[in-house]
Amino acid sequence: MFVVMAPDATEDQVNNVKSHILAEGLAAHENRGTERVVVAALGEVGPRKDVLQSRFAALPGVESVTPISRPFKLTSREFHPEDTVVRVRDVAIGDGSFTVMAGPCSVESRDQLFETAEAVAAAGASVLRGGAFKPRTSPYSFQGLGLEGLRLLAEARERTGLPVVTEVMEPAQVDLVAEYADILQIGARNMQNYSLLMAVGRVAKPVLLKRGFAGTIEEWLMAAEYVMSSGNPNVILCERGIRTFETYMRNTLDLGAVPLLHHLTHLPVVTDPSHATGKRVLVKPLVLGSVAVGADGTLLEVHPRPEEALSDGEQSLTLPLFGEIMDLVGPVHDAVKSLHGDPVLSASALKIGGAKH
Ligand code: PEP
Ligand code: MN
Repeated sequence: MFVVMAPDATEDQVNNVKSHILAEGLAAHENRGTERVVVAALGEVGPRKDVLQSRFAALPGVESVTPISRPFKLTSREFHPEDTVVRVRDVAIGDGSFTVMAGPCSVESRDQLFETAEAVAAAGASVLRGGAFKPRTSPYSFQGLGLEGLRLLAEARERTGLPVVTEVMEPAQVDLVAEYADILQIGARNMQNYSLLMAVGRVAKPVLLKRGFAGTIEEWLMAAEYVMSSGNPNVILCERGIRTFETYMRNTLDLGAVPLLHHLTHLPVVTDPSHATGKRVLVKPLVLGSVAVGADGTLLEVHPRPEEALSDGEQSLTLPLFGEIMDLVGPVHDAVKSLHGDPVLSASALKIGGAKH
């Protein structure tokens, strides 16, 4: 349940509410909004629900107590009405701008990474992507350069000034990857790896959480809830396509998820048209579609010679094609904002509820 404090509640009153929540064996998480503090009391309450609700409501400084009907709590708009803006170095994700994160699927060599990093930086990307630990479908495929890849990413950051996002595949790797990366990526295959989610929840680096191939929006938000409830509020959701009956494309990009998520959650939402389509020629229209539906950014695979790529060459953009996309993002973003208003606000007018199961 959410304990909503009165606008003039004192610090002591907020602390008192938190100690009552803890004394009941629940966890207390607070959100300091522009007008008031909301304290979430989280944990199994079972039949104590009504008693606890009236007990908390009677505490000094409390304005109201609302039960939470949705299974996701800290990720919900109800808990945190303002948009979360994830800041990493000079980049803000979720502040109304459109952030382009670009780079190779895998870090393959110093030359390949630096050539790509310099080109995407020059074309206007603001975050560099690149996999060092690669989750490959086949154990015989290139598995990534590991630590050497992380070192090259850190060097590329020094050369270009771009913060770096890279995947972490298991809890034992979290500290190492966090030492080199600015944003920790959780791949689609690990969306429900709860021990990994809790491990990245304990470090002070933002997390880019990809949607699983078969993850519902609610399961995806519950995965984000694991990260947030472990102590990390900086989660970016990445729609990277889900598996459907369609086979022409690698996956199906669920663009509708973007405005829906903006209604349900305060977390920033980006798309990944590269993994969603698996085809280079389909990336440009889906980047523009992502801008139009109000995404906070996009994650794109780029390779100077895609035909030589050790992974995901078919979907990797050439440097000229990446440049073409970058030239279109700004004008489409401005046009959508001026013609359509903020797609996020239009979504919030829809009063969207959960699906009936
Ligand atoms: C990637 O970003 O290179 C990747 C492996 O993505 P996903 O987890 O979405 O398949
Ligand atoms: Mn890839």
